[in-house]
Amino acid sequence: MPIKLDTTGLSMSDYHSENKCTWCDGCGDYGIWTAVKKALVELGIPPHEVLMCFDVGCHGNMSDKLTGYRFHGLHGRVIPFAAGAKMANPKLPVLAFGGDGASFSEGIGHLVHGIRSQYPIVFILHNNGNYGLTTGQASSLTPQGQAMNTSPNGMPEQTLNSMDFIFSLEPTFVARGFSGDIKQLTGILKEAIGHRGFAFVDVLQACPTYNKFATHTMLMDRVYKVEDEGHDASDREKARKLAIDTGERISTGVLYRNEEIPNFIERLVPRQNVKTTPVEEVKVQDVTKLMEEFI
Ligand code: SF4
Repeated sequence: MPIKLDTTGLSMSDYHSENKCTWCDGCGDYGIWTAVKKALVELGIPPHEVLMCFDVGCHGNMSDKLTGYRFHGLHGRVIPFAAGAKMANPKLPVLAFGGDGASFSEGIGHLVHGIRSQYPIVFILHNNGNYGLTTGQASSLTPQGQAMNTSPNGMPEQTLNSMDFIFSLEPTFVARGFSGDIKQLTGILKEAIGHRGFAFVDVLQACPTYNKFATHTMLMDRVYKVEDEGHDASDREKARKLAIDTGERISTGVLYRNEEIPNFIERLVPRQNVKTTPVEEVKVQDVTKLMEEFI
């Protein structure tokens, strides 16, 4: 499908792909997919002016279900390639999507360095508490003791407190959404795209095929919006408490936001006061002299 360059009258159908969805009925990926398109359209961003990066997982199949610039790479490695693309062209909004399985196992180092480096990208965590694509293996976020296909007697390991871990890294933007509330998730994503540094967006989603402990109904019954309770998103300690306390109720919305901290590109001394981007500076170089040194 040819990409329209005129963004007047942008609509969700501009992000339409002919590829058929292969997600299971009731999968939370549908809600996240819809919210992402809606957020981009409401921000007036056409498909040729955004990059969406995916790694392996059920969520990663979204890369075929959208029109525009997309990159689909290795399991758990979405942050490095999203950050690299952002470095090359800082003018482009870059969204990186990962699942809870990969992001909190082999991808966890990238998450740590993504946050501490303050790469100005949005990271969207598809949090369904298991590895769905590989048929219901326990992830680090599956509750301890929960029976899963790979641990029928109950997962023996401790569950990682993901939000406590994220807050320990001194993030500048932390939000939590729910795939069943597309309107709220759209607003969260719009704020995340507008954030100065690394935006971490945890999205609770149902996986009706393999996750029998955090179902769509259970999540719907427990979530509440922090904006309805007057939460001040500049209060980091309060945000951390709201994020980790998921016992009775689960907070959603923009939990923490700090726009005072410079991002990675702003901290790069050689790029300061440079008006062009690296992609605009690409040109043919004559390396003949350099090569002569090796002959
Ligand atoms: Fe969605 Fe789970 Fe099916 Fe994967 S296995 S498509 S996460 S419902």
